[in-house]
Amino acid sequence: MEIIVKSSDDAVAALCPVAESEGIATVFDRYKAQQPQCGFGSLGLCCRICWKGPCRVDPFGDGPSEGICGANRDTIVARNVARMMAAGAAAHSEHGRHIALAMQRVGKGELPAYQIRDPKKLTAIAERLQIDTKDKSVLQLAHDVATKTLEDYQNQDHHKGCHWISASVPKKRLDRLAKLGVLPHNIDATVAQIMARTHIGCDAEPGNVFLGGIKGALADFNGMSLATELSDAMFGTPAPVVTEANIGVIDRQSVNIAVNGHNPLLSEVICDVSREMNQAAIDAGAPGGINIVGICCTGNEVMMRHGVPLATNYLSQEMAILTGALDAMVVDVQCIMPSLPQIGDCFHTEVITTMADNKMQGARHVDFCEDNATATARKVIQFAIDAYGRRDANKINIPDIKRTAVVGFSAEAVMDALAQVDAVDPLKPLLDHIVTGNIQGIALFAGCNNTQSVQDESYQKIAKTLAANNVLLLATGCGAGAFAKNGLMNQQATELYAGEGLKAVLTAVGEAAGLNGPLPLVLHMGSCVDNSRAITLATALANRLNVDLSDLPLVASAPEAMSEKAVAIASWSVGLGIPTHLGTMPHVTGSQVVTELMTEGTKDLFGGYYLVETDPDLAGEKLVEVIRNKRLGLGI
Ligand code: SF4
Repeated sequence: MEIIVKSSDDAVAALCPVAESEGIATVFDRYKAQQPQCGFGSLGLCCRICWKGPCRVDPFGDGPSEGICGANRDTIVARNVARMMAAGAAAHSEHGRHIALAMQRVGKGELPAYQIRDPKKLTAIAERLQIDTKDKSVLQLAHDVATKTLEDYQNQDHHKGCHWISASVPKKRLDRLAKLGVLPHNIDATVAQIMARTHIGCDAEPGNVFLGGIKGALADFNGMSLATELSDAMFGTPAPVVTEANIGVIDRQSVNIAVNGHNPLLSEVICDVSREMNQAAIDAGAPGGINIVGICCTGNEVMMRHGVPLATNYLSQEMAILTGALDAMVVDVQCIMPSLPQIGDCFHTEVITTMADNKMQGARHVDFCEDNATATARKVIQFAIDAYGRRDANKINIPDIKRTAVVGFSAEAVMDALAQVDAVDPLKPLLDHIVTGNIQGIALFAGCNNTQSVQDESYQKIAKTLAANNVLLLATGCGAGAFAKNGLMNQQATELYAGEGLKAVLTAVGEAAGLNGPLPLVLHMGSCVDNSRAITLATALANRLNVDLSDLPLVASAPEAMSEKAVAIASWSVGLGIPTHLGTMPHVTGSQVVTELMTEGTKDLFGGYYLVETDPDLAGEKLVEVIRNKRLGLGI
């Protein structure tokens, strides 16, 4: 069998032959087995919305031009992409709701496993939400913040925008969104409305359907903003920490437990409990004790708050099991491959699901809720310790590949670092450097891995082009994982790849912040739910300059966008006025109307637009050009 490895990660190249020799199919094999992929689906021209279907519209005009109900290519494509935005918004917002409900109960003193670890952030959030903080205890304030947050899932007044988006973007942007009728008033209602209007026989006007989708994407922004901010208050606001990334962080001498998924509610407690159970692991024969490693965005969450090393990102999650030294993989929600239990069965690895609404065939399930958080954490750690005893030494193969990564640059951490340069006016040094051109602009890398690309490769190529052109780089999610694993999130990368102006700024700020060298080339802002952190920073800049977000030399890039969540993120980024690169061909090109609306029409509507370019070299050049034009618009 020919081994196809569409990855630039050396660890993946080292472990795929192990899969082959064991007769295990990985994501790369399954990708190959799917070729050629459905052309109708790739163009967005397949409709499965009702049981008269599925219907397909012929892209070449030879066959049917409409579905059985009469829906044409534009309606079908618009419905499909709007539904993706709704699913993304639902995913992030469920995550946010889970955190908000937990915080409300923390405020009532009902969840002893959790605390408010950052009361300063809690107060700052309360003030942003215009909650009276006077004479309130930390717990009272937590309750009030959570309660007001939950109103964003309940408000029925269409004229009132959700609290979180209203408190998070410039007024000019809010007014523009309100005028277009896309400002969400209620996350749940907005998602439900997209599902309702895209039901058979409802909204068939493609532009109207698409704008409904954008409203859902902005509800996604609202949900992810609240998830990030409340998590910071409960678990701590990230600050820079030095750690390591890539598969070599799995330790032969330790009980290795990978936390995989997105929601920090259980992984935080696993980190706490692992310290008290460390001796039990040593007693079981593992001299290194317990070694927690991260995968995907749960990995980002514990990496930025505890310095837990990152084993890998989305596409290579199966590789962690192939090392033969992973004793348990504990998963929560989102982006978890259903193939994991099957691969775990070929080794000794316990694959453990923990959420009642996120189970997998063949996995062990340990039901988690916040009331039993500590007991659940103990249980899964004990399963890992027991599994350690069943390891087959002959199957252990841990490629010695890992890179230093400096992570944890929340918006607050960035402001703290800048405050070391100008304590009175921390934004001033950043603004001054943007005006002088030492920093040409800012790029946020977000999104997933995708088998349509070579894993992690486009991230690195585009980042190097932008860095050489003095663009400040931020990253979240599996994009952040790509940079951390491949050595672009450390000080050496700054020395190697930053243009002179950018290098001088990163060095000055890094030295002032006591890092004995520059800031890393790419600033790690967290998991994919944390993209709102970049908007916090951008909003501060826009407000200071009295401009809208669309006026800033700011771009976003999702070189390997894959999930419905990524579609939602890219779409709110456009809605907030940011030119947003997609390195994956979106499933919309079957409709010229929708394609033109996304790449051109959105410029007039929002100032932001989708910039589709699958060639990473060209994408880097185009993003530099966008930033240059934005600078010209500002007269700098
Ligand atoms: Fe076909 Fe219309 Fe049903 Fe879609 S909604 S499957 S186009 S009949």
